Amino acid sequence: MPVTIAIVGAGPSGFYAAEALAKSASDCRIDIIERLPAPYGLIRYGVAPDHEKTKNVTRSFDRTAGHERVGYYGNVEIGRDLTLDELRGLYDAVVIATGAPLDRALGVPGDDKIGVFGAAAFVGWYNGHPDFRDLAPDLSIGSVAIIGNGNVALDVARILAKTPEELATTDLPDYAVAALRAASVAELHVFGRRGPVEAKWANVELREMGGLADCLPVIDPAQLPERIVYDLSERDRRLREKNLATLRDFAGVEAGTRRKRLYFSFYAKPLEVLGGERVEALRLERTRVEAGRAVGTGETFEVPCGLVVSSIGYCAEPIEGLPFDEGAGAVINRDGRVAEGLYVIGWAKRGPIGVISSNKPDGVTLARQIAGDFGPGKKPGGPALEKLLAGRGARWIGFADWKTIDAAEVATAPPGAPRRKLIRVDDMLAVLEPTARPPGEAG
Ligand code: NAP
Repeated sequence: MPVTIAIVGAGPSGFYAAEALAKSASDCRIDIIERLPAPYGLIRYGVAPDHEKTKNVTRSFDRTAGHERVGYYGNVEIGRDLTLDELRGLYDAVVIATGAPLDRALGVPGDDKIGVFGAAAFVGWYNGHPDFRDLAPDLSIGSVAIIGNGNVALDVARILAKTPEELATTDLPDYAVAALRAASVAELHVFGRRGPVEAKWANVELREMGGLADCLPVIDPAQLPERIVYDLSERDRRLREKNLATLRDFAGVEAGTRRKRLYFSFYAKPLEVLGGERVEALRLERTRVEAGRAVGTGETFEVPCGLVVSSIGYCAEPIEGLPFDEGAGAVINRDGRVAEGLYVIGWAKRGPIGVISSNKPDGVTLARQIAGDFGPGKKPGGPALEKLLAGRGARWIGFADWKTIDAAEVATAPPGAPRRKLIRVDDMLAVLEPTARPPGEAG
């Protein structure tokens, strides 16, 4: 009997692992189990809508899904449709590949005010994630504070800074297009608790901020150091020098006709979100960097803003039956091993660090571990899962069903856009049985 493997999560780490296992010499059968009907996880719901090329990796994921050893069960949620223990009873190996979909809490007074969002929620909203469809951020405000100096913070700033024309060929949902079109944001503030040298941006992402049609990046040149004092690898030094050079270039850019301003503010740590029910301002403390850490100076200042997006990193979601490290926001593991027959890969294993392809080596490691850990398989896998789901009236979909949904999205794309995403789970499922239910709203 082949070794039966269930991969929980159809994002990048899940697909890379399925690919490595499908190509391995082990006699195995792999089923990818995904809580939403749509696969691809972070690619569909995290990658910025104006970075369409980054999403091309889904073509190779589709090839993996079409492999004879690989199955797909969409719309199946661990915890809702079956427990992790039940899944482990059905498969020889269970692999957690659920990523890091939650926001780390900002953890300052006032962070629960209306108008304060984590980046996972805000990005999910403009990317049409069903969980965040109804977030309804009020963008009829003049100023936004974005906290964090990572690539996600730049994604958020760029989407808020771009003109409707710059976003016209994206797969932004209609509701997000309408909200961004009606938005009155004139000032964006990106705050880093440390300095420009410590910022985590990719240079290509940072440079993009200098080429926006209607938004001028603004830097206080006094915050840019003359030189980098850290002991760094050659690669890191080059990246940071490039970022410093880009920031210096920004300082010299002519405003031209650009109306919006994007202020990069360093050495600024959030202390409190101010306002009544809604956010009205952010209070921050000036910092200096000592031994690589941000140390408060006691000097504070306030920036008026009607929206705060906290982009300070993500964390994994605990699942009942999985040992979880709250501090690290990841599943407790030893090189991906959690317990006998239970593994973890990707951001759920390592925390939310790295680009999409950084998840590839986890799949290779996993395939090697599984090849060493198992002789012939003992558990039934897919047929037993289907029986259990059918007994519970759970509605799962296969990959061919997803491709039907995908085709419907592509067929209804606005001119120039790659697709019009179906947002709600019911609307995705309705595509598969169009006569059984009234058509839902697409956005
Ligand atoms: P990130 O790169 O880890 O950046 C998080 C930022 O939040 C850092 O600047 C960090 O500052 C700051 N921060 C953390 N806790 C804070 C606090 N309590 N108060 C104030 N600031 C705080 O995370 P990310 O931007 O969410 O990105 C996640 C991963 O996805 C990264 O590896 C990123 O490169 C990747 N990504 C890549 C792309 C791309 O390549 N195009 C696009 C999006 C995301 P400190 O440095 O001081 O901790």
